[in-house]
Amino acid sequence: MTRKKKEADRYWNPAVETLPPEALRELQLRKFRRIVKWAYDRSKFHRSLYQAAGLRPGDIKSFGDVAKVPKVEKAMMRDIQRKDPFPYGDALCVPLEEVTEFRQTSGTTGLPVYQPDTWQDWEWWSEAWSYLLYAQGYRRTDRVFIPFGYNIFVAFWAGHYAAEKIGCEVVPGGVLDTEARVLKIQELKATAMMATPTYVLGMADAAKKKLGIDPAKDLTIKKITCAGEPGASIPSTKQRMEEAWGAKVYDHVGATEIGAWGFECTAQPGGLHVNEALFLTQLEDIETGELIEEPGRKGKIVITALDRMAQPCIRFDSKDVAEWAADPCPCGRTFRLIRGGIAGRADDITKIKGVLVAPSAIEEVVRSIKGLSNEFEIVVTKKGDLDDITLKIELLPEAEGNREPILVQLKDQLRLKTNLGYNIEIHPFGSLHRYEVKAKRLKDLRKKA
Ligand SMILES: [Zn+2]
Repeated sequence: MTRKKKEADRYWNPAVETLPPEALRELQLRKFRRIVKWAYDRSKFHRSLYQAAGLRPGDIKSFGDVAKVPKVEKAMMRDIQRKDPFPYGDALCVPLEEVTEFRQTSGTTGLPVYQPDTWQDWEWWSEAWSYLLYAQGYRRTDRVFIPFGYNIFVAFWAGHYAAEKIGCEVVPGGVLDTEARVLKIQELKATAMMATPTYVLGMADAAKKKLGIDPAKDLTIKKITCAGEPGASIPSTKQRMEEAWGAKVYDHVGATEIGAWGFECTAQPGGLHVNEALFLTQLEDIETGELIEEPGRKGKIVITALDRMAQPCIRFDSKDVAEWAADPCPCGRTFRLIRGGIAGRADDITKIKGVLVAPSAIEEVVRSIKGLSNEFEIVVTKKGDLDDITLKIELLPEAEGNREPILVQLKDQLRLKTNLGYNIEIHPFGSLHRYEVKAKRLKDLRKKA
């Protein structure tokens, strides 16, 4: 095999995935100017936003000018869709009859945002997913099982089409229940699957307890692509999933309003590549808005989908928090890495007793301790003027004899990793709520009190 052939096998798009950083920036700037002009010429919303800021598309000449473009927040998207044309509103850049896909956001708070895509946009969605699945080792020989009911949300439609585009065989495991899905995976000898971390663990649990099937020994899944929650970038959760399935587990990030913009590769570098061919991802200081280029400093992700045309996503304030990694990835891609995945949502990071806490930090501790189940719940209340934080956990039946040392270890680790003391409640194994798709583990009852 020649070197060129090997390179071609390693990357979905070998030319752009190995472009030197300067060339990547040049490509991004060219595409950024194009999408801003496109939106200015066609979307009433964007034109008035930019005019109010005194900005014309021609004003963007260098990378430094990108920051002059006003940001867009989700709340603005909700206002937009109250305008014509129904149901999307005046950020639409194409005639309504060119829209072929309707999706809506799946967030748990507020009204959903409606998202129009043209057929060309849909092709772009699957292209973005092709980069990520290919980087995670999906090839023509894979049989991919998707244990998920497709509906009005974007998950896992684009993953499905991208797997087909790569040449995999795709099994949509939608309406089946968990046990039937496990049996189908076994019968068909599926080699890969896509699911939320919560469901990956829940499925393995159900397989063992209800069917006597050990996914790591009895099933043939070799890679799992996660979405929807940060679990696959949290080392202890990733390890639990990989051990339960005997498979490699990879993370990916995306959002309905943005697209699939980041992915882990088979090198598992402890972070996610940003797809810099299709997106411009920038980190901004949470308080000052200053652009962050150096590694190790957390900032809010502001992101542009460079090729999404029906309803452009330009300088979208994602509210996700992340930091750049210091070193390039051994896989050879020049796409930058964010270290440790998404650190949390700017909104989910809660101040408790004056300390900023991300639920993912508590998850990392709970799942790093042998003897605890995967389930946990955090309840924050007020006692008088003081915040009070309770962590509910489950001890595995076989760990009953080690109750005390496990509790000591848990308390020590929590204090070390989150700088807080907790009331620990131990619940009988199997009694805490099991989530099917996205888990909601933090209950903040302070406002109601
Ligand atoms: Zn890599």
